[in-house]
Amino acid sequence: MARIAPGRLRPLRGYNSPFSLPLIILVVLWSVSVWSQPLVIRHITVIDATGRAAEPDMSVVIDGDRIVALGPWKKIHAPKDAVTLDGEGKFLIPGLWDMHVHGASDNRAPWSHLLFLANGVVGVRDMSGPPDARAWRATQASAPAPSPTVYLGSPIVDGQNPVWPNSIVVANAAQGREVVDQQQQRGADFIKVYSKLSRDAYFAIANEANKIGIPFEGHVPESVTAAEASGAGQRSIEHLTQVALGSSSEEEASIAELQRLEAQFRAPGATMAQKMEAGRGIIEVNTRIVQTFDEATARSLFALFIKNGTWQTPTLSLLQGQIDDPLDTNDPRLKYLSKEVRSKWDDGYYKHYPPGPRAALAELSKAQFDESMKIVGLMYKSGVPILAGTDTMNPHCFPGFGIHDELALLVDAGMSPLAALQAASRNAAQFICQLDRRGTI
Ligand SMILES: [Zn+2]
Repeated sequence: MARIAPGRLRPLRGYNSPFSLPLIILVVLWSVSVWSQPLVIRHITVIDATGRAAEPDMSVVIDGDRIVALGPWKKIHAPKDAVTLDGEGKFLIPGLWDMHVHGASDNRAPWSHLLFLANGVVGVRDMSGPPDARAWRATQASAPAPSPTVYLGSPIVDGQNPVWPNSIVVANAAQGREVVDQQQQRGADFIKVYSKLSRDAYFAIANEANKIGIPFEGHVPESVTAAEASGAGQRSIEHLTQVALGSSSEEEASIAELQRLEAQFRAPGATMAQKMEAGRGIIEVNTRIVQTFDEATARSLFALFIKNGTWQTPTLSLLQGQIDDPLDTNDPRLKYLSKEVRSKWDDGYYKHYPPGPRAALAELSKAQFDESMKIVGLMYKSGVPILAGTDTMNPHCFPGFGIHDELALLVDAGMSPLAALQAASRNAAQFICQLDRRGTI
């Protein structure tokens, strides 16, 4: 797998046509500002992301923040007072969406907004939102700096022993229902579910969310299978959580074994030696899950995803990042990161592990990444709906630049260049039910 090529905003690897930076910026400008005069771009090649082939020599007329005309340049009349640009040799694509980000709605990385916009990212799905989405939007409305549109999740909803400190912890079914109601009232666009939820809590959340009509999206908890999550109506699965497990011929045995090892690891009074042994066991089972990948099993799981409308955001950038190669300190994109983020990136993913387990985790991540590439290719061929997301703010996942890395990875995994582009444009709009006004040209 080719490493991320640093140094510039790259054309999407594998695409026949390079998209130029100025043009991407232009698309962004349309989306964030209202021009006083109409703008006409002539002789441009349009890739509209509807699925149509590239159309050369087109004219586009923009009035205010809307495209009002599009067609072969000879047929389009430019308004009298329009500003005209020559698009010869350039390409027009829809604004991009990064469908898995963190830090866009809190104070950790307000600087990331400009990086998104400068890279043509006009919208993001924030996967760990503020406690009160409505209050956040009110503050945001008066913020002077331009920002991408944010499709905003609830805070992470997790079980006991949550993975992240700012999560909402849900211990049982009643609390699960309560959080769903509260977050809907506070204006969250969706409920973000996470890895440590118990089965009871998870299925209560699913039931309540379906009842009151708010989507739930996120990780498939470790206590639940991917097929069950799909059946329960989870709208998107992130990072292929539990998907490799559900594609293994040993799913049931592996779940039981992982639960036993997890309990051993967490047992009160467990010695360091016992914890180390459990940790080694967990890595072994996960390696075995990769080795027992079974295509027929995977295909029947994917058929369920299609039947239930379960979207996938593989975040291949994250999965590749977790191999934990050292940062390329010559990568000029690093200079845009804040000090705090940079120091986390320098630490990498496994800083707190001793060298042995650390190497084992990196090796497992490599095997899992290779398997994920295979799974994404197969999902694409099977017709599973796919979204492009980076999990940015995690090491190796650049805000803004990163979506271009993700599109290149999706193409490497076997998606057509057009399908990859749609995963970050048309599909995103469809996913948030705004295809009538976004996602295509
Ligand atoms: Zn994430």
